[in-house]
Amino acid sequence: MKLIFERSIEGYETDWIGQSEVPPCELPEELSRTKKLNLPTVSQNELSRHYTELANATFGVNDGFYPLGSCTMKYNPKINDEVANFSGFRDIHPLQPVDSIQGCLETYVLAEKWFSEINGMDGFTFQPGAGAHGELTALLMMKAYHKKNGDSHRNKIIIPDSAHGTNPASAAMAGFEIVNVVSDEYGCVDLAALKNAVGEDTAGLMLTNPNTIGIFDKNILEITEIIHQAGGLNYYDGANLNAIMGVVRPGDMGFDVVHLNIHKTFSTPHGGGGPGLGPVGCKDLLKEFLPDFYPVETKEGVEFSTPANSIGTVKGFYGHFSILTRALTYVLFLGSEGISSASKTAVLHANYLLNGLKDKFEVPYGERCMHEFVLSLDKLKKETGVSALDMAKGLLDHRMHPPTMYFPLIVPEALMLEPTETESKKTMDEALQIYRDLHELAYRDGESFHDFPKTTIIGRVDEVTAARSPKIRYEFSEEV
Ligand SMILES: *Cc1c(COP(=O)(O)O)cnc(C)c1O
Repeated sequence: MKLIFERSIEGYETDWIGQSEVPPCELPEELSRTKKLNLPTVSQNELSRHYTELANATFGVNDGFYPLGSCTMKYNPKINDEVANFSGFRDIHPLQPVDSIQGCLETYVLAEKWFSEINGMDGFTFQPGAGAHGELTALLMMKAYHKKNGDSHRNKIIIPDSAHGTNPASAAMAGFEIVNVVSDEYGCVDLAALKNAVGEDTAGLMLTNPNTIGIFDKNILEITEIIHQAGGLNYYDGANLNAIMGVVRPGDMGFDVVHLNIHKTFSTPHGGGGPGLGPVGCKDLLKEFLPDFYPVETKEGVEFSTPANSIGTVKGFYGHFSILTRALTYVLFLGSEGISSASKTAVLHANYLLNGLKDKFEVPYGERCMHEFVLSLDKLKKETGVSALDMAKGLLDHRMHPPTMYFPLIVPEALMLEPTETESKKTMDEALQIYRDLHELAYRDGESFHDFPKTTIIGRVDEVTAARSPKIRYEFSEEV
């Protein structure tokens, strides 16, 4: 498809942008442009077609089955968007006096109550812009906690080998050293290895539960106890909360701090790096370190405060407010019964899919799963030459989004499926049939997979070149 710059025709203008109500002001000379801005000029109709074409070239949950493991691609109810679009929420400015945005600030207070209740925490910040950003925020709070207690020598964070790549990355960014612990044969944390890893220098543990293989760690209470005994803090990567919300709470499992991925569990749009929301909840012992712009209720109304030993601001102003309004709408709409029913249904659906595939595909860990599971195509690849990537490309021709590939790293030729609670049995049955047909095709004609996909706008891409030298900027033929 053509880029908007390639559609541009000199002399065409779109004059439908209204007159500004704000009087124009002159820019100082040194700030003015010396060259003309290289903007495309197209007619209104062309512009509209361009965006429609772009929209048609993408794939979302409204287009088809999207079981992307670890990402919780559930349906986003449209009422969330309607509420976020209320004028009182939408037409505000971050520099407005707080007494004129009390309704918005109440949103934070209400959200803090609900999310604290769901997670067994005592307070929440809604500043971080995504899960990984929440991880960094929480780690900085843990660091500040140890520093205040005169324990700055606690500089090591323990992370299991099944962790999401963002965990070690965030710990390194926060200035910690990383200690890896291995998984046992059930895909859970190896307790002996954990006991060996803790010591005087342990700052804490980062754990995803259920973990990336879709298994709830049966030793969870023992794990958090080992860390507490060693003087460390327990951090819960809550990206998989969709498996447990309304059923068990990180706070009750012995965790001191947690991040959530609102754009996963709480039904708000995922973005290319944002705008997501990665709130961080903590127990009382860490509240004094929460970021700035912490809303508190006073007699006069809600105000922003800076916690006593705050780590400072981690995002401009209050974070992605309109994402929070969507998430809170979702939570209030479901209520406590709906929340637990959502996670129970998500677990049921994942087990339904797993059960329909396990006679054909290898399942390295467990016969049962939480809200997602991992298949290994290692044997299939050895016997037929069809890899996890080939299988994923084959699925594209059935208007179905492939599962997550090659993650977690501890499973060779991994495919990770997460159907979510919002899919119907019919959709899952169709998907099962397609997976089983492709499996059969692999043994009959494995070669044919190397040409897939055949029906998409873009066919088989050169993955290596795409990853190593991506073209991410339009090159103008001449500077104007
Ligand atoms: C998605 C995910 C993250 C990172 O969250 P982002 O919002 O993508 O930054 C961290 N941990 C786990 C287990 C995840 O699945």
